[in-house]
Amino acid sequence: MNESDLVITNGRILDGCGNPWFRGDLAIQDGRIAAIGQPGSLQGRQTLDAADRYVAPGFIDIHTHSDLTLLVNRRAESAVRQGVTTHVVGNCGMSPAPISREHLQDMRTYWGEISAQPEVSWEWRTFHDYLEVLREGGTSINVASLAGHAALRLSVMGYADRVPTEAELSAMCSLLAEAMQAGAFGMSTGLVYPPGCFAGTQEIITLCKVAADYGGFYASHIRGERETILEAVAEAIHIGRAAGLPVQISHNAPKFGAPNDAHANLALVDAARRQGQDVTVDNDVHTDLAPALLHALPQRWQELPDERIIALLQEPEFRHQVREEIVLDRKPAFGPVGLLKHAQWQRITLLHAPQTPEVVGRSIAFLADQRRQEPFDVYFDLIVQNGSAAIAIFDYIDESNIRLLLQHPVVMVCSDGDALATYGFLNDPPPYSPCSYGEFPGVLERYVRDEPVLSLPEAIRKMTSFPAQRLGLFDRGRLLPGLWADVVIFDLERLHDRATNLFPHAYPFENYPHQYPQGIDFVFVNGSLVVEGENHTGTLPGQLLRHAAVKIR
Ligand SMILES: [Zn+2]
Repeated sequence: MNESDLVITNGRILDGCGNPWFRGDLAIQDGRIAAIGQPGSLQGRQTLDAADRYVAPGFIDIHTHSDLTLLVNRRAESAVRQGVTTHVVGNCGMSPAPISREHLQDMRTYWGEISAQPEVSWEWRTFHDYLEVLREGGTSINVASLAGHAALRLSVMGYADRVPTEAELSAMCSLLAEAMQAGAFGMSTGLVYPPGCFAGTQEIITLCKVAADYGGFYASHIRGERETILEAVAEAIHIGRAAGLPVQISHNAPKFGAPNDAHANLALVDAARRQGQDVTVDNDVHTDLAPALLHALPQRWQELPDERIIALLQEPEFRHQVREEIVLDRKPAFGPVGLLKHAQWQRITLLHAPQTPEVVGRSIAFLADQRRQEPFDVYFDLIVQNGSAAIAIFDYIDESNIRLLLQHPVVMVCSDGDALATYGFLNDPPPYSPCSYGEFPGVLERYVRDEPVLSLPEAIRKMTSFPAQRLGLFDRGRLLPGLWADVVIFDLERLHDRATNLFPHAYPFENYPHQYPQGIDFVFVNGSLVVEGENHTGTLPGQLLRHAAVKIR
């Protein structure tokens, strides 16, 4: 028997396919799993005693927004310390490429402050060039990417709220073909955000046909996740059928205001699958999101500079109009706006408000009572006083729906977060993003160990082989000889997510600023050790993953 680089002994091996664990040795050689054998059967130049902990494939996070944070901090700290070894970027319609010179400023504004970081050079225009910038500097985790529909649209027609001309649509198709040739795994949309929300179904079908030509899939932040969630799921399924490609419905928990629980949208997915359509779902297990208060304004106002919006919100007429539009919600806005629409002011808790620090930790409902003011006026006043720096935690998802989604076999686990770090620009000020720090350990801690929502092998399957299958990555996501050695070793008893804050919120917030989880003891990416206990080794062994750029039809 040959000696390998490393043998992990004495572990409980979870293969990623949903099978119960078994005891065995796992050998790593040249970045790949060289062998798996009976306990004591394999020899290596080095041995790592797993001490009866679980040994599983590295987690694959199919829905992230790490497109630029990975350029700023290539160590992917908050991801890899959770045991995550692959991120999929370019979600919710937005990738940083392609981008035209003409609309570069729109793109920079979209991404906000991170756009001005020195590591974000914006020297790329094509999707290929962006991927090269990402690849050349290296990353600690593997990265796969989707081409964002909003980036295609922004490149060609900026924030125009209209149907594209034939020439514009064909220009978008060419940009997408270029992205697919460069290795994009498919196209994503964000149909509640500008400019994605300005696109009709037919535009997306036409583009999806291009992605389908290259064997890509369609990932969608659907057109409304509350009152219109079922129509929006149906639209995504229809797009997949019309264009002939698989569909991934992103972070598909019903948000406050949805008419039914998650059974209803899952029933549509099940029906499509029975008819032979490949539709799958991902979801994050957090009930909250912490956007700027400004982002609840109707989409057409969101692209205005702060000063302009602040000035407008001082006019009673404008306030009245905005309030009416929020309640009517004709072009469905993103999930958290449901809390304004349905007057759930006790579910909106202030997190940052530099000009009015006394409100931090208070809900809009509390402040309205205290000030004897209309909640909408309290909300607008905070924007006038703090601009886009006013940020609140919006608790807009019912945890019972999170459990329903976790238990359904077609739902995989995603974070919807990004790779962050507890130091540097990415923590200044600390963002509220529990999913970026605690998603995967949190699922295992709360929904596997502490409460029997799902079994350990099933949870691991939803984090590994299942997303790998969606991506067509058949050389990752499982523990089998010959596959890439993305491996995590964890202690289920010690596992602890130190980023999640359950609703209702106590102030100061229990797990904020966020910390890395406990109990993820070793993480290997392509055979190299990246996490050892509390330490990141600093290595950048991640690969830039490219979908086979082969035209299949
Ligand atoms: Zn989204």
